[in-house]
Amino acid sequence: MLKKLSEMEGSINGSFTYTLRRLIHIFQSNKELLSSQGWVVGDPYSYSWWGGMRTPDEIAISAFLVQLTKWEVVREVMMKLRENGISNVEELSKMDIDDIDKEISKVNFHKTKARRLKAFSMEAVKLGGVTALVSPINEEKLLEIEGIGKETAKSLLLFISNARVFPPSSYSAIVLGRVIGRHVSQEEASKAVAEALSDIYELKLMHAGLISVGKAYCNRKKPKCHECILRDVCHYKLNTISYIDR
Ligand code: SF4
Repeated sequence: MLKKLSEMEGSINGSFTYTLRRLIHIFQSNKELLSSQGWVVGDPYSYSWWGGMRTPDEIAISAFLVQLTKWEVVREVMMKLRENGISNVEELSKMDIDDIDKEISKVNFHKTKARRLKAFSMEAVKLGGVTALVSPINEEKLLEIEGIGKETAKSLLLFISNARVFPPSSYSAIVLGRVIGRHVSQEEASKAVAEALSDIYELKLMHAGLISVGKAYCNRKKPKCHECILRDVCHYKLNTISYIDR
């Protein structure tokens, strides 16, 4: 049986926790990469980590819009919603789905997202606002809302409620797996990182860093290891690529 990540030696790096510490140090020194991928590293409790969004409502709304859509497009749509005074669930809950649809027409699958945003907004308003709905005690309720899967639910909990959780994602699982040199499932990575790190800043930095590396370098089929900021600590790069590329 595979050892739990928290029990295993992190290959070239020592323990899993020690590996995470090294990654945190590297992400901390490469904030510009994270920023190029839409993460604004700053105060641990600031909402702006989430692409410069200002409020819990803006984080939640943009989390729906970003599914299968580029962040640049989402950002433009969010700026327009903000300008029009409707980047909040109070206003969206009162609007017709067709009107929401017109406002978000630049994002992919806007019709579906308009319907989901309306439903989410109504639920949030019913409970007293986004921060009331997005709370660890409501995780099951969040998962019942159309358009919110495990990754989105835990992302909202981390970036809105500052809950000590780590969102499961395919990027994190691939990058972490390659760094430590063994397959890691999304759920396993989510659990192990949340157990190993308790600091909100570090959890946010780890999520933003792994997603950024995954998007910028760690392509599933053709990773760009020579450019990657993790190349000096990555098992895959040091033990696989080195033989091929020499
Ligand atoms: S060095 Fe290569 S395999 Fe390792 S994380 Fe970076 S891109 Fe992925």
